[in-house]
Amino acid sequence: MTALLEVDGVTAFYGSSQALFGVDLAVGEGEVVALMGRNGMGKTTTIRTICRMMPHRDGSIAFAGRDLARLLSHRAAWLGLGLVPEGRRCFPTLTVRENLTAAARAGHWSEERVIALFPQLAGRRHQKANTLSGGEQQMLAIGRALMTNPRLLILDEATEGLGPLVRREIWSVIAQLKDAGLSILVVDKSIAALTAVAERCVILEKGATCWSGLSAELTPELTQRYLGV
Ligand code: ATP
Repeated sequence: MTALLEVDGVTAFYGSSQALFGVDLAVGEGEVVALMGRNGMGKTTTIRTICRMMPHRDGSIAFAGRDLARLLSHRAAWLGLGLVPEGRRCFPTLTVRENLTAAARAGHWSEERVIALFPQLAGRRHQKANTLSGGEQQMLAIGRALMTNPRLLILDEATEGLGPLVRREIWSVIAQLKDAGLSILVVDKSIAALTAVAERCVILEKGATCWSGLSAELTPELTQRYLGV
């Protein structure tokens, strides 16, 4: 079976500085995969190359059987890559509704369905994104990615900077999306939350994949060695 996303031996550079030295990862149809690694190990850079916000040099990235090497970033969303970027990046002066409708593409997800997923946004439809709490902005960022009706949802730092209650809600929504059959690639600091939702984990060290396997196989020795906890 070919994976929905297949990243093979990818290298990437910021100018002359190499950040990725050989990233391998795959996400199957309907699978949740956690991308892990200590700070600066290349998680965000890997996501940027997948979403075509920066080019890779060696290796290959295939999505839905298509080689992404020459794809432009705005076309990545058309192909079905839905990104929730680090730091959320909602359009600050647009309202919740405008943020959602600006991203909309035909499919299952609509403003009503996003609001049903995040009822807290119901009373905020006409509020500008920059007046929302951090948790509400993350809900909006996830909603906006869903409005593109992605085949793969990518969350970079799914719960960064959020309080425990909102974190719990975000993880519960990710689990609901998984149960609905969505394929997901997720980065977060919480190993416990990641391994609870993800079938598989991929760990990066110094810009390269150093371990990948089932979440159940991620032993305390491995987390100590590669994640420093
Ligand atoms: P974090 O958890 O801190 O976000 P990360 O695993 O996502 O870390 P990256 O942000 O991908 O790691 O960084 C990988 C490497 O690339 C690091 O050495 C970092 O310093 C470097 N890097 C990241 N962004 C840039 C940039 N815009 N210009 C130059 N180097 C960068």
